[in-house]
Amino acid sequence: MSAVLTENESVRFDRERRAEREAHKLEKRLCRLVGQAIGDYNMVEQGDRVMVCLSGGKDSYALLDILLKLKQRAPAQFELVAVNLDQKQPGFPEQVLPEYLTRIGVPFHIENQDTYSVVKEKIPDGKTMCSLCSRLRRGILYRVADELGVTKIALGHHRDDILQTFFLNMFFGGKLKAMPPKLVSDDGRHMVIRPLAYVPEHDLVDWAAHRRFPIIPCTLCGSQENLQRKQVSAMLKEWDRKHPGRVDTMFTALQNIVPSHLADGTQYDFRGLTLTGVADDGGDKAFDPQWPAAASVPGLQVIQI
Ligand code: SF4
Repeated sequence: MSAVLTENESVRFDRERRAEREAHKLEKRLCRLVGQAIGDYNMVEQGDRVMVCLSGGKDSYALLDILLKLKQRAPAQFELVAVNLDQKQPGFPEQVLPEYLTRIGVPFHIENQDTYSVVKEKIPDGKTMCSLCSRLRRGILYRVADELGVTKIALGHHRDDILQTFFLNMFFGGKLKAMPPKLVSDDGRHMVIRPLAYVPEHDLVDWAAHRRFPIIPCTLCGSQENLQRKQVSAMLKEWDRKHPGRVDTMFTALQNIVPSHLADGTQYDFRGLTLTGVADDGGDKAFDPQWPAAASVPGLQVIQI
C-alpha cells in the first residue's frame, strides 16, 4: 500500500481531522455548560438517583449522553435511570430506545400508557393536543418517579426553550415568567431539573448529528407544533443571526433581575418607599453603564439621576 496520499485522500483526511477537532470542542463546551448549570443551581447531589426523561428527540438523547460523561468525573456519586413513556402513538418505533439503552448499558424503564387515544378522544380534530398531552405525561412521569424511587427528574429543555417560554408568557400571558432550571412540582413532592438550561439549541443539533442518535420523529401524534412557539423561535433565531450574542445576553438577563426597576408591587414595596437621603451607587440611571453604545448615539444625552 502506498504511504503517499492522493490529493482526494488528503482533502478527506484534513476534513475528518477538522470535524474531529470541532466535535471535541463541542463536547467540552457541552460538558462545561451542563456542569456549570448543575453547580449553579445545585441540581445533583451526592447519592441522587436521577430519572432522565427520554422522548427519543435530540435534546433528551444529548441530556443523557452528557450526564453519563459527567457522571464519570463528577465528585458527587449519583445514579442515572432513563425513562421513556410510550404514549402509543401510531407508528412509534418501540424497539429503538430499548435497543439504544441496552447497547450503551444504561438502566431504563419503558412506561406504556395510551395517552394518545385519550387525547384524540378529548380534543377536537385540528386543535392542538399538546397541552392535555403534556399534562397527562407529567402526571405519569411523577408516578413513575415514585415507583422507581428517584430523587430528581431531569428534563431536556435547553436555553432556547427557556427563552421562548419567557417571550410566550410576556407576549400572550402578560407575565415575566420563563421555565426555571430547577423547580418543585406543583404537588410539592418532586424535584425537576433542567441541566441543559445553559445550552443553546444549535449545539444540541450538532451533537445529535455527531453522535448519530437514533432520533424518533416527534410528529407521530399528528399534532401541529404550537404556532406561537414556532414564531417566537423564529424571532430569536433571526435576532441571533443579525446580532450575535443577543440571545446569550437575554439569558443572562434572566439571571439578573432588578425588582426595584420593574413594576410589580408584590416583588418590591413601591408603596412603602421612603427617602434615605443617601446617594446609592447602584441606583437609578437612565442607561446602565454596560450600554456604551447608547452613550455614543449623536444627540442622545445620558442623564445620571
Ligand atoms: S407534539 Fe404530540 S406528543 Fe408532543 S406534546 Fe404535542 S400532542 Fe403530545
